[in-house]
Amino acid sequence: MGEFELIRHYFAAAPCAQAGEGVALGIGDDCALLDIPAGEQLAVSTDSLVAGVHFPEAADPFLLGQRALAVSASDLAAMGATPIGFTLALTLPAARADWLQAFARGLNQMAQSCGLRLIGGDTTRGPLSLTLTVFGRLPRGQALTRSGARVGDLLCVGGELGDAAGALPLVLGQLQAEPALAEALLTRYWSPQPQLALGQALRGRATAALDISDGLLADCGHIAAASGVALQIEQARLPLSSALKTLHGLDSARLCALSGGDDYRLAFTLPPGELSALQAAGWPLVVVGQVVAGQGVQLLNEQGQCMALPVAGYQHFEGSA
Ligand code: ADP
Ligand code: MG
Repeated sequence: MGEFELIRHYFAAAPCAQAGEGVALGIGDDCALLDIPAGEQLAVSTDSLVAGVHFPEAADPFLLGQRALAVSASDLAAMGATPIGFTLALTLPAARADWLQAFARGLNQMAQSCGLRLIGGDTTRGPLSLTLTVFGRLPRGQALTRSGARVGDLLCVGGELGDAAGALPLVLGQLQAEPALAEALLTRYWSPQPQLALGQALRGRATAALDISDGLLADCGHIAAASGVALQIEQARLPLSSALKTLHGLDSARLCALSGGDDYRLAFTLPPGELSALQAAGWPLVVVGQVVAGQGVQLLNEQGQCMALPVAGYQHFEGSA
């Protein structure tokens, strides 16, 4: 199968690749054309996933398709953007029909659940890697940036943390667990659900937000630095699933939440007056700390004393010049 036939068969023909709201022209021309309503801004984010670095070479292609798009869509959620579409740059060692079929199905499923249309891309031969660029829209000036946290705000997260990190030894085949337990954690690793609706609900309410990809500590550090404040996390308030605690024990479960990464839940700062209305509306938010004067991130024990911070989240090029 040639390049053009491959694109047409697996991508252009997918339900998620059909033109629709916000997409005036999709796959097939030199550029896609997006319609941005007057008074709105375009939100854009790119992520690359490389085999052997971000996922095992032999990863299930359906799950990989789902996860690749979820990870990118999560950045739109973190800005409070309404999804429009995405491009896919795919580098493949070979055009294997079964692999492409399953990958395109996973991608399509996540695209449809996120309301994202596939609007273009590129297809090349080489070591397996994926680069996805997502596009969303926002009323001008309403994006949830990292820089608006204020002293006195509450620090909140969008649900249980650490499950994906707790699943990693299962993904890598380093640990076995009974099926029900493994399933609960692996689902959070392979099919994280980008919190798009929550992000949009936080527009005009949260003062700062991001999606947690490198562990709560590292990511809260980004908000603290951008906002010129300190973020306090109360360890006892960390929301942890029972599956995570059962498989790893409380101390390791907390470590997964604090430094593990791959959660793709939102972390955000909220003026205290905004909390009750959001809770009453049923949004899955958990208060884990607060914003105080100072800098950096502080971890507090049950007595409210500062604890030593565990090692930081994963960083590419760590230690290199
Ligand atoms: P060009 O040479 O103009 O860059 P290509 O041959 O790379 O065009 O792609 C042809 C069309 O198919 C373009 O609209 C491009 O966006 C789209 N496309 C290529 N690869 C993919 C892919 N993996 N997924 C979705 N669309 C793709
Ligand atoms: Mg091209």
